[in-house]
Amino acid sequence: MDRKVVWNHYTEENRRELEQLAKGYREYLNKGKTERECVTESIRLAEAKGYVNLEDVLASGRQLKAGDKVYAVCMKKTVALFNLGTKPLEEGMAILGAHIDSPRMDVKQNPLYEDTGLAFLDTHYYGGIKKYQWVTIPLAIHGVVVKKDGAVVDIVIGEDKEDPVFCVTDLLVHLSGEQMEKKASKVVEGEALDILFGSMPLKGKEKDAVKEGILAILKEKYDIEEEDFLSAELEVVPAGEARDCGIDCSMVIGYGQDDRVCAYTSLEAMLEVSEIEKTTCCLLVDKEEIGSVGATGMQSKFFENTVAEILDRMGQFSELRLRRTLSNSRMLSSDVSAAYDPAYSSAFEKKNTAYFGKGIVFNKYTGARGKANSNDANAEYLGSIRKIMDEHKVAFQTAELGGVDVGGGGTIAYIMSLYGMEVIDSGVAVLSMHAPWEVTSKADIYEAKKGYMAFLKEA
Ligand code: MN
Ligand code: MN
Repeated sequence: MDRKVVWNHYTEENRRELEQLAKGYREYLNKGKTERECVTESIRLAEAKGYVNLEDVLASGRQLKAGDKVYAVCMKKTVALFNLGTKPLEEGMAILGAHIDSPRMDVKQNPLYEDTGLAFLDTHYYGGIKKYQWVTIPLAIHGVVVKKDGAVVDIVIGEDKEDPVFCVTDLLVHLSGEQMEKKASKVVEGEALDILFGSMPLKGKEKDAVKEGILAILKEKYDIEEEDFLSAELEVVPAGEARDCGIDCSMVIGYGQDDRVCAYTSLEAMLEVSEIEKTTCCLLVDKEEIGSVGATGMQSKFFENTVAEILDRMGQFSELRLRRTLSNSRMLSSDVSAAYDPAYSSAFEKKNTAYFGKGIVFNKYTGARGKANSNDANAEYLGSIRKIMDEHKVAFQTAELGGVDVGGGGTIAYIMSLYGMEVIDSGVAVLSMHAPWEVTSKADIYEAKKGYMAFLKEA
């Protein structure tokens, strides 16, 4: 059973739409290199479509009713959007979920040091990375520094053409005899991922003169002191913009496509499908890459609490109705899939693998070592999803993440399934997943958005 590549079916009109979506997507990637930036950009797009902050609704004492569009934010890193339908909420929602955190290097709390006239920022990597991929490429720093008085200083260095960039150094090959014999996991060790930050000494200083020079610049440009690093969240990411990839411009190369490719297409679908009976929801969450932990991860009560607030504002809250709302909901939990790569064919099983250009991917299960820690979606649910996709002419494929016992991974699906709701993993195929620059197919991006729209209308 072979699924077809979808490109050949496209009309001129389809291709125009596809290019427009890809353009918006590249802009979203460029503006959202951290979870905070993604939340800011998602809110900007949502407000333009009439969404209002739930906090403002609560403060005003106003009730909510069908047709209202609201969003709720958790600590500036996770956002949930709701388009309230005409049906009672307890009949369930159609939920699109994706994550907006990506693998990167986080600057440590006490990061700045000088060694032999070079200054570095020490980092602790976040999420699963092949550490050797992060050396010698231009890097940018995005994040916030929070001062003791609560002032938040936004930092983006390395994206403007006039900005400096940063890097992690590597040993030249002529001296690498010993290094080249090491296992790939040891070639570059986590503690060696320090960011080259400066080299010019401050005039008149003897000790740590380069570090002193840097502190003077930080003071002048950003009004921050060394101690302010203690309450900062600075993320080191690849510098530069997302680009078209391939001579035919059929693909997108960019940082953080896991999982912003699903986040953006889910958000776009959410904002476009306006008239609905069943309430729709788009949930963009943080901390997936480190186990969905913390207040802003999927395991947090944030989502449940938000649904409770909405029920309350609709005059419908009860504990039982909250539980029914959640258990009667249906969800596409979206995360990227590993695209088949002919250079690494042994990692895949060809019949059950995602391919570029074959559309949105559904993973009945993920997990590793005998499906462990997977959300194994119900066959009945999968049947209804197939029907929706076919009726809306959405190209889809089914896949596993690599061959049996090759590896595996988790998503947020299993957490939402705990409410007893129908959840299936879905998403977009990615080449070089978790690398600084990941690649996706524009056809799959286009089909994903179509698939999400179909789901919101029919689920
Ligand atoms: Mn992911
Ligand atoms: Mn990931």
